[in-house]
Amino acid sequence: MIRFDILTLFPEMFHSPLNSSLLRKAVDKSILEIHLHNIRDYAKGRHRVTDDTPYGGGAGMVMKVDPVAAALEVIRKDTAKGPVVLLSPQGEKFTQKTAEEFTSYDRIILICGHYEGIDERIRLYLADREISIGDYVLTGGELPAMVIIDAVARLLPGFTGNRESVLNDSHTTGLLEGPHYTKPREYKGWNVPEVLLSGHEKRIAQWRRRESLKRTLERRPDLLKEADLTLEDEKILNILKSETSE
Ligand code: SAM
Repeated sequence: MIRFDILTLFPEMFHSPLNSSLLRKAVDKSILEIHLHNIRDYAKGRHRVTDDTPYGGGAGMVMKVDPVAAALEVIRKDTAKGPVVLLSPQGEKFTQKTAEEFTSYDRIILICGHYEGIDERIRLYLADREISIGDYVLTGGELPAMVIIDAVARLLPGFTGNRESVLNDSHTTGLLEGPHYTKPREYKGWNVPEVLLSGHEKRIAQWRRRESLKRTLERRPDLLKEADLTLEDEKILNILKSETSE
């Protein structure tokens, strides 16, 4: 079980994704616990102001440090330990490895920025880690938080009935996964590869491995440097390379 605490100005953004599909089931099965905290509830004053103009001038509004600090103080009173992660396009890039690493925590606190960004003191004094989901800028940290929750949750035991399918996923194995086919066997003259209809388990496994290596070589050769390859894999790759250079 892993618990996510999300600090956000827009908790309603999470309602639909967390109430659908496998994430909903994971919450129902107590594999996943989600606690949404509206930062506005921790802001002082009648107007509960959570953002202000930047010192030194400039465009946009900046999220204030004090409501986020007050929220963290309350949330951290619970016993479960875990990192405070700030979502930011400037952070370390979130990968499958990060998702795997996150499954080892009992709890993760995610801070979602918004507007022009956050007061730097949140990053300096309150966050343990800064994570980006990719080299582009989104309106807020809510979508990145959902991406992280989804990627971590599906690795938890009991999340899917078919754990093998998760373990064979692209990036989990260090390679891209090969193609999938389902019924019908023939559609508009587009056929399913014969080997998949053969019922021959070993041949099918060999074909899948070859396709996975081929796809990785074609699309993401950079992944091959880090992948855990057998001697047989190396042989197949050499054949594939010689085929493409012919
Ligand atoms: N002005 C900031 C900059 O240039 O770095 C970007 C602020 S962005 C509009 C508002 C918030 O969205 C950020 O504080 C962060 O929480 C979130 N965000 C945007 N893009 C993100 C990304 N690629 N990964 C993670 N969080 C992101």
